[in-house]
Amino acid sequence: MDTRIPGRRFLHSPGPTHVPEEVLDAMRRQPMDMADPRLTRCIAACEAGLQRLLGTTGAKPFIYAGNGHGAWEVLVENLIAPGERVLIAGTGHFSDSWALQTEALGRSVQCTPWVEGRAIDAAAVERALRDDPEHQIKALFVVHTDTASGITSELAPLRAALDAAGHPALLVADVVASLGAAPFEMDALGVNVAVGASQKGLMLPPGLGFVAVDQAAMAIAARNPAPRYYWDWRLRDSELSYRKFCGTPPQNLLMGLEAALALIFQEGLDQVHARHALLARAVHAAVEGWATAGALSFFAHVAEQRSASVTAVQVAPGIDVDALRALARERFQVSIAGGLGPLTGRVFRIGHLGDLNAAMVLGCLAGVEAAMTVQGIPFGRDGVARAVACLAKG
Ligand SMILES: *Cc1c(COP(=O)(O)O)cnc(C)c1O
Repeated sequence: MDTRIPGRRFLHSPGPTHVPEEVLDAMRRQPMDMADPRLTRCIAACEAGLQRLLGTTGAKPFIYAGNGHGAWEVLVENLIAPGERVLIAGTGHFSDSWALQTEALGRSVQCTPWVEGRAIDAAAVERALRDDPEHQIKALFVVHTDTASGITSELAPLRAALDAAGHPALLVADVVASLGAAPFEMDALGVNVAVGASQKGLMLPPGLGFVAVDQAAMAIAARNPAPRYYWDWRLRDSELSYRKFCGTPPQNLLMGLEAALALIFQEGLDQVHARHALLARAVHAAVEGWATAGALSFFAHVAEQRSASVTAVQVAPGIDVDALRALARERFQVSIAGGLGPLTGRVFRIGHLGDLNAAMVLGCLAGVEAAMTVQGIPFGRDGVARAVACLAKG
């Protein structure tokens, strides 16, 4: 067994995130017999809570034992027939991964270009839609917050692009990294399908993926001839829990989800978003301070596009991000994330979503400063001080 490390460890990956005690306690209960009405009530509470969190009254939630990639597969298999085309808005690593998976499933994929450091180019999306007069594109897939770049794209301009082009493609939004951190209103935005997972803003351990599907998308899925079973919304659309989950529900994760949703609504969704915005500002203030020494900079060029969930910090060539992460984790008990895909070795990332408060974020920032000091990385020494000033202002 690993030697015990005294005190708390600071988990600042942008998923999995810190799990609140209330959620751990809820998950510690024994599973139930499948006919137990408590299980039915728990599932109903999870579904209603997810609808409320997603800002939808009409869309049907489907919850899967799986992860975000599993939920991606769910919507490809239900919505897109083999050979049909999807337009994916370029956001970086996560749009690339989604494209790869969609192509691997035998669907045709077209991507709009991604400009490093920037959010989705809605004009490029609109051009691609206008260039498709025969409506071969069946869905537009967009990642709300790309966790690799730390950039959040506005979704309203993408709905507007579809409408302006008069294009009937479904709007599918990946809110895995933004849900519970930044505002998202599925119905108001005209999003047809939303996709999430348990281990980010929802403060649960990994293991659940979910989607919410509006009527238009349900109708398209009903006509889709693609062979499928485990993922199939037609089979899962049922009052029986055994059918809803195509077998035994992941009960303990659902108990945790019910507890996590209760925590979010107890705090108040607006308050949860405001807390995330403040903690993100504090991290950004620290990075601004660090950047004055010239070796570190924001990966996201436009301040307004920096996400409430995670900040990607670009490092000068020669700085070993993996060594920094290992030092921060092993010596100072602060876990941060590295770069993904094309950003490997070029950035480190600080997750600031989920069950966090000001002191936890300050602890993380100080731990990163300590690790950078040991490693001899040049950084402006007033990062933590700037974060404190930001938090003091509120
Ligand atoms: C984490 C993440 C995923 C993938 O989720 P997994 O649970 O790791 O499969 C998908 N999209 C976004 C935006 C994410 O942040």
